[in-house]
Amino acid sequence: MQNMTSRTLLWGFGLNDIDRKKIETASGSGYELRNWTPDALPQAGDVERDEPLVLWIPIASWDALDTTRREEILGWDSVQKVLLQNGTGSDVSPEAYVDMGFLSVLGAPLRPAAISDALLKAIEVRNLYDDIMRMTREISLEREILARKNDYLLFLNRVMARAVESLNPATIITQARQDLNMLFPVSAAQCIFWHETGRESVEAELFLAFHEHSDIQEAWVELLLKTAAKLSTAHVDSYQLTFLLDAAATDDGVDLSPRPGQVILLPLKAGGRDFGCLALLTPEQVRLGREQRDVLHSAANHLGLALKNALLYREVKIRADHDGLTRIYNRQYFDERLVDELKRARRYSQDISLLLLDIDHFKAVNDTYGHQAGDAVLKDVGALLLETLRSTDFPARYGGEEFAVILPHTCETKAWNLAERLRQKIARMLFAADGKNFTITTSIGVASIPPGAFKKNVDILRQADRALYLAKASGRNMVCTSLGCEDDADQPREANS
Ligand code: GH3
Ligand code: MG
Ligand code: MG
Repeated sequence: MQNMTSRTLLWGFGLNDIDRKKIETASGSGYELRNWTPDALPQAGDVERDEPLVLWIPIASWDALDTTRREEILGWDSVQKVLLQNGTGSDVSPEAYVDMGFLSVLGAPLRPAAISDALLKAIEVRNLYDDIMRMTREISLEREILARKNDYLLFLNRVMARAVESLNPATIITQARQDLNMLFPVSAAQCIFWHETGRESVEAELFLAFHEHSDIQEAWVELLLKTAAKLSTAHVDSYQLTFLLDAAATDDGVDLSPRPGQVILLPLKAGGRDFGCLALLTPEQVRLGREQRDVLHSAANHLGLALKNALLYREVKIRADHDGLTRIYNRQYFDERLVDELKRARRYSQDISLLLLDIDHFKAVNDTYGHQAGDAVLKDVGALLLETLRSTDFPARYGGEEFAVILPHTCETKAWNLAERLRQKIARMLFAADGKNFTITTSIGVASIPPGAFKKNVDILRQADRALYLAKASGRNMVCTSLGCEDDADQPREANS
């Protein structure tokens, strides 16, 4: 576009001196006429540079052009073409020229009023043309913005859909890295959550990528704990660490240490309160635009809700699977787990054993020392099972004063030895109620399935129950086994009591 001070350019193609003078006089001082000679006609680049308002072209010059050249000139949309029919040349009608793309056809002799008219018309068309161009630019800009917004919406939609697909916090964090990578490069996504343990203290849980260098790991732990303390405005009492798979880029040479300017901390909120923070590491310092920042924060809001859901689900699941009094697994979860462990033992041809443990004369404990003392006994026995057993063993409260223990990879002899150790340990436990001390005893039934002994109707639970019954029937405070065969099961092996 020409600036205000420069004069508007008009072009002529081989104008004779008389017509040139007439046009110059009629257009006035705001215009400058540049007359090209027929042997040096302008190219497309000249149009762009000069942006001439009008091209005055005598019909003789027009007729002398070849078809390609004519089409090229008619294609210059921003230039208004005015044909001067000065008596010579072809006898095509003026309307035909207008149809062709000429703005006007001026007859001979060329009159100043006709020149001014053509000029005014050209200005009008040029203004219209400029308006249309501006609107076209605005529309295409808006389309671009809409397309970008659409991309962002699709992105958020994807983040949201993937986040609610899982109820596992680790999976959600891992997927978040992959998804956010579409917005900007993310080398690692790690997280910290916290929950209150006291008025001014919180317990934290960290989900970290596995860092081969312990100093990098320590730096992340320190940064995240500091963030948790700041956001929760409380002291972090203790923390648990869970390692994430695929939470960080594994490309060679990627530095995963939390360098300043490359860590984006996104507080996670639920119910208006911060409960965690997502930490993103970028491979280099990134400057996010306003839109990108908004989208990132929306994504963090969605992720926050999905993560909160996952944490709540985990809590509810733990509560549903555990016994409220003893805090060990309950019967319902035990039943599910037993099915899984039996399948596993069968598939991998491994031993599996089961203990059923029943407190002797427990009714009398309640009757003598009260129900609360009875509860305390159950709690302590549950705790003793947890501390005595290996982490791969699986104790559960099976019923009122009955406990069950699944022992994967354990043959009958080992199971019996363990049962005997438990029986003796429990017998040595000292309880107190109403200032009086008392002890308890237990009867334990053991059942085992050696590898290869899995038959269709093998029922390890029934066998353990029968072994327990035998222990009770044989005088209590003892361990009996079922050898998996009915004959042997009738002959309990008694403990040295
Ligand atoms: P046995 O040696 O034959 O097993 O005798 P027992 O008295 O232990 O067996 P019984 O089945 O007659 O009584 C079990 C008692 O356990 C009765 C019940 O009130 C008590 N009990 C079950 N659940 C709880 C509980 O959660 N807390 C308390 N305090 N007692 C419970
Ligand atoms: Mg019982
Ligand atoms: Mg009992």
